[in-house]
Amino acid sequence: MSGTAVFNRLALIGMGLIGSSIARAARAQGAANSIVATARSAATRRRVAELGLADQIIESNAAAVEGADLVILCIPVGACGAVAADISSHLAPGAIVSDVGSVKGAVLRDMLPHIPNGVHFVPAHPVAGTEHSGPDAGFAELFVNRWCILTPPDDADSAAVERLSAFWRALGANVETMSAEHHDLVLAITSHVPHLIAYTIVGTADDLGTVTRSEVMKFSAGGFRDFTRIAASDPTMWRDVFLANKEAVLEMLGTFTEDLSKLTRAIRRGDGEALFEHFTRTRAIRRGIVEIGQDSAAPDFGRPHAHLAKPE
Ligand code: NAP
Repeated sequence: MSGTAVFNRLALIGMGLIGSSIARAARAQGAANSIVATARSAATRRRVAELGLADQIIESNAAAVEGADLVILCIPVGACGAVAADISSHLAPGAIVSDVGSVKGAVLRDMLPHIPNGVHFVPAHPVAGTEHSGPDAGFAELFVNRWCILTPPDDADSAAVERLSAFWRALGANVETMSAEHHDLVLAITSHVPHLIAYTIVGTADDLGTVTRSEVMKFSAGGFRDFTRIAASDPTMWRDVFLANKEAVLEMLGTFTEDLSKLTRAIRRGDGEALFEHFTRTRAIRRGIVEIGQDSAAPDFGRPHAHLAKPE
């Protein structure tokens, strides 16, 4: 342990990529005195034990939250309401209940009715991840220099919000607070629609009759392979994201479709100026992302380059 504990007993429900990363980071930073973990399947609980990710591994959600001063649900968005109902009467007075779901409005709607008086509900979304799932996929550094967005309800206790912020800062994240509604709109364009586009284009390529699947794979370095990384993300998680953030995604998709039509028209009309202007603007956005440290400036995302064979 290296830091001062922000919480005494942390209960993690769900030990996939995000739950196991929180466990690793909280332990590395000493952000909680003890960590209790539970997962839906016996296989995951067994693996969490083998990896030594928690002080205690408990079978039921209800038993896991007993005595915890921080409870974090690290499960798909669509499962949060039922689990909140399951733990409701077992939560300790004064505890903070949070989650990590990629959609916040639906989580607030589904969980809030099950939060008893005297327990603080502060939903959260660490904007950090990979395309891998399960307890083996997690790592302690996942949240370093990434944003964690808190979406507390209007009447949330400010001390509880500050305490959860301190926890996420201890894990290396930067913390920002906004309404659940605004979060869902922002993430629709920065995450949800890009995932939908990746899922679409990879599916489209797979369906093509005139270009074979082996050609698609062989020549993927032309741009396609970067979409395939995103399109390899967990199907359950992303199904739930689109079901839960329907309105905001449809709104952003409407705008996206209009803009796609403009570019389609520019290509059809041979309007090079319009294309050049658009691509110049988007290049500046990429440079801005690199400048604020949200990605590497290394070419091709820092992929290692092969060496030329020595001439005979
Ligand atoms: P994951 O690696 O697939 O892990 C999901 C965990 O949830 C597993 O422990 C799984 O249990 C459990 N689970 C699944 N369905 C459940 C259900 N119906 N009831 C109870 N537990 C259930 O997923 P993840 O990537 O950690 O994602 C977890 C949450 O984090 C999601 O809400 C997602 O929106 C959010 N998030 C993900 C990312 C990302 O990039 N992946 C980033 C930020 C936030 P078993 O292992 O026993 O099946």
